[in-house]
Amino acid sequence: MLCKDYDAALIDLDGVVYISENAVDYAVESLTSAVGTGLRCAFVTNNAGRSAPLVATHLRSFGLDVHDADVMTSAMAAADLLATHVEVGLAVAVVGGPGVTWALVAAGFRPVAPNDPVAVAVLMGYGPQISWQDLAHACVAIRAGALFVATNTDRTFPTSEGLAPGNGVFVQAVEEATSITALVAGKPSPVIFRSAAQRLNAQRALVIGDRLNTDIAGANNAGFDSLLVLSGVTSAREVVLAIPAERPTMIENDLRCLAENAHPIQAIQPVDHVWDWAGWRARVVGAQVVVEAVDPSAQPIGSVQVAAAAAWASQRVVDVIGLAL
Ligand SMILES: [Mg+2]
Repeated sequence: MLCKDYDAALIDLDGVVYISENAVDYAVESLTSAVGTGLRCAFVTNNAGRSAPLVATHLRSFGLDVHDADVMTSAMAAADLLATHVEVGLAVAVVGGPGVTWALVAAGFRPVAPNDPVAVAVLMGYGPQISWQDLAHACVAIRAGALFVATNTDRTFPTSEGLAPGNGVFVQAVEEATSITALVAGKPSPVIFRSAAQRLNAQRALVIGDRLNTDIAGANNAGFDSLLVLSGVTSAREVVLAIPAERPTMIENDLRCLAENAHPIQAIQPVDHVWDWAGWRARVVGAQVVVEAVDPSAQPIGSVQVAAAAAWASQRVVDVIGLAL
C-alpha cells in the first residue's frame, strides 16, 4: 500500500481535503484509514490568515480526527525560519493578521506593531487590515536592518467574490521599495515542508497536493516524494506537460490511492520507445505524446500516468493527445 511506503504525509488542504465548503470525494475516509495503518499526517497550508487551532477545527468539521498540532501554516513555518536567524523571545514587527501574530506567540517571539523600533525582524503575512502606512513602516525597519521574512508569496487569494491580491503582492511592493528580497517560508519554499516533517520526526515523508507550482515544486525543493491528486486545480494535461521542477513522483485521481499500490511515474519504462502501462500505450511522435487504449476496460488515470512517463523522458514534448481525463 502506498501509505505504508512512507511514515508521514504532508497534506495540502484546498483541492485535496476540501473545496470551499465541501469535503473532496473519498478524502475523509481515505485519510482516516491511512492514519489507522500508522501514517502520520500534517496538514500544510500557505494560508497564514488562520491559526492552527482554527484550521484544525475546520478540518474536524469534515469528520477528520485532527489535533491542533497536526496543522502547519506558513506563518508557523515563518516563525521556525525566524528562529534560525534571530533569538527567540525578541520583538518581531507584524504586517499581517491574527494568524501571523498567533504563530509568532506560539513560537516564543514578541509581536509588535510595524512602527515599533525594537523589532529585529519584520514578518509579512495575510491580513485584511494591512495599510499603506504598515508597508511604509516595514520598509523603514527593513532598510534600518530588520530581517525581512514573508509567510508566503502567493500572488492571489480566493474570496467569495473572486481572486484578490495575495500576500506576495504586498511583499513584492516592499521588496521593490527596499531592494531587499524577503526570506520566504511558504510553498514552494522547502522551509514549510521541512518544518512539518521535523515536527512529525518523519524519516520518509510524502507531500500530497493539487498545485504544481506550490505543492509539487515545494516537495521537489525539499527533496521529498510527492503525489499530485487531480481533485483540485491541476488538469491531467497540465501535469503531463509540467516543467521538470514541477513534476510529481506520482499522479492519482484522489486519496483512495493511499490504500492501493504506489505507481511512481519513473517506474514506467519504455520498451523500444513504447510505454505500455495499465492497459494504455504511449509513443512520442514529433513533439507530441500520443496515448491510446490497449485494453477497453483500462482506468482513465492510467492514460495520464503513461503519458507523463513518455513526456518526461523526452526533452521536446509540447503537446499530448489521447488522454482519457
Ligand atoms: Mg491546494
